Amino acid sequence: MDVKTGGATRGGGGAETWANWAGNVTARPARIARPTTPAEVEAVLTRAAQEGRRVRPVGSGHSFTALAGTDGVLVDVSAMSGLLGADDASGQIWVRAGTTLAALNALLAARGRALANLGDIDRQTVAGAVGTGTHGTGAAFAGLASFVTGLEIVTPAAGLVRCDATDDPELFRAAAVGLGAFGIVTALRIATVPAFRLSTLERTERLGSLLPRLDDFFASADHAEFYWFPYTDLTTTKRLTRLDPDDVPGGSTGGGLPEWRRRLHDDLLSNTVFGALSGTAARVPRLAPLASGVSARGLGERRFTDASHAVFCSRRAVRFRECEYAVPVDALRDVLRDLTAAVPRLRRPVTFPVEVRVAAPDDVWLSTGYQRANAYVAVHQHVAADPTEYFAAFEAIAAAHDGRPHWGKEHSLDAERLEALYPRMRDAKAVRARVDPDGLLRNAHLDRVLRG
Ligand SMILES: Cc1cc2nc3c(=O)[nH]c(=O)nc-3n(C[C@H](O)[C@H](O)[C@H](O)COP(=O)(O)OP(=O)(O)OC[C@H]3O[C@@H](n4cnc5c(N)ncnc54)[C@H](O)[C@@H]3O)c2cc1C
Repeated sequence: MDVKTGGATRGGGGAETWANWAGNVTARPARIARPTTPAEVEAVLTRAAQEGRRVRPVGSGHSFTALAGTDGVLVDVSAMSGLLGADDASGQIWVRAGTTLAALNALLAARGRALANLGDIDRQTVAGAVGTGTHGTGAAFAGLASFVTGLEIVTPAAGLVRCDATDDPELFRAAAVGLGAFGIVTALRIATVPAFRLSTLERTERLGSLLPRLDDFFASADHAEFYWFPYTDLTTTKRLTRLDPDDVPGGSTGGGLPEWRRRLHDDLLSNTVFGALSGTAARVPRLAPLASGVSARGLGERRFTDASHAVFCSRRAVRFRECEYAVPVDALRDVLRDLTAAVPRLRRPVTFPVEVRVAAPDDVWLSTGYQRANAYVAVHQHVAADPTEYFAAFEAIAAAHDGRPHWGKEHSLDAERLEALYPRMRDAKAVRARVDPDGLLRNAHLDRVLRG
């Protein structure tokens, strides 16, 4: 059976096999539906319920967890793409759920608008990214779900509904970061900002000099983050500063890094060379510390200015698995101290840098940022290396600081622990019981994390 990662492949018997981007989750759904309208989504749910099959929505398959897996009906929303409307006065747009962030960024740029913040990549669908609490970095910026002001959603019990802060606010607050457990989102209303450019400074700094002044570091730019390279004291820091489009000759589109230099850095240094190094380290573990040091030094310093989405998002050609926890910002130093002490003790070496970001609090019930300013620590392992020991060690460290796991990344927490971490979890479960009383949207992973 040929299984391509990040999508569906038809096998010999005609059945389609689905795999996520990292290839660590596969499923053999009874069928894959590709609706193009909300009415077709309603029909998919009705038919599945009649057949006694369960249903799971899926976007670009970039989650590392088994959220979307099902042996029932997989609903691929990617055909529902594009803008439904835009209100130029308020800057709000309605966008169809299956639109990728890349497509949305292009549509917004053409209107002189942008999303206020973004994560590392733009391959995800809007619904998938929002639905797992995807975030970028920036002490004044919450995750993508905080930009959402309304949802159009097909629920098993009520069919197609629109909800927002005044119409069914409970459904709105529960289903924004909703893991596809409350219904199938068909469109989202999103607050956008005027297009802006980012000036970027990337350079190598010592972890030892960052740790005593983490607050200063994250206050040193609108969007600051760093990558720590295990077995070294080296980090690559990134500081992105927002510029007004009028500040820079060339407006919101000109003045970026020349294309050949971007490709040299992103394709060759960040992806190709790094991929070879981390892949080798995954297969020959004793080379991991050497590979980490070479990677850290190889990236060097660069400064450039470009449109916001071109700076926030880059290509990730090297496949990895990932576990990320949100911890209170004040706990970050302790978490990093414990992690740097734990990594050299692991039997299987780490082949990927650790990413460290921050985000502002929000009011979305199941968001990792719910009423808490967080630091985000993400650990990765090359797909060729078993991440079990590393991720377990990191989870134990995060647990000591009330870490909330990213819903789209690997973690081992169950419903009981998650209920203790999310003050509105019980309210969200009450909404779920109302909109999906028969559990049409259940799967084994959701049973583990949302049971009860
Ligand atoms: C290379 C890489 C880089 C990443 N970088 C970041 C980052 O910088 N920051 C960050 O926070 N995360 C990051 N992630 C995680 C990623 O943003 C999330 O896992 C996101 O959910 C993926 O979106 P997707 O469209 O692939 O959704 P999927 O993985 O396909 O689905 C995610 C969830 O959304 C649900 N869903 C999908 N469509 C709908 C719908 N229409 N209605 C209701 N529910 C739906 C699914 O059922 C599932 O529960 C990264 C992942 C990868 C692989």
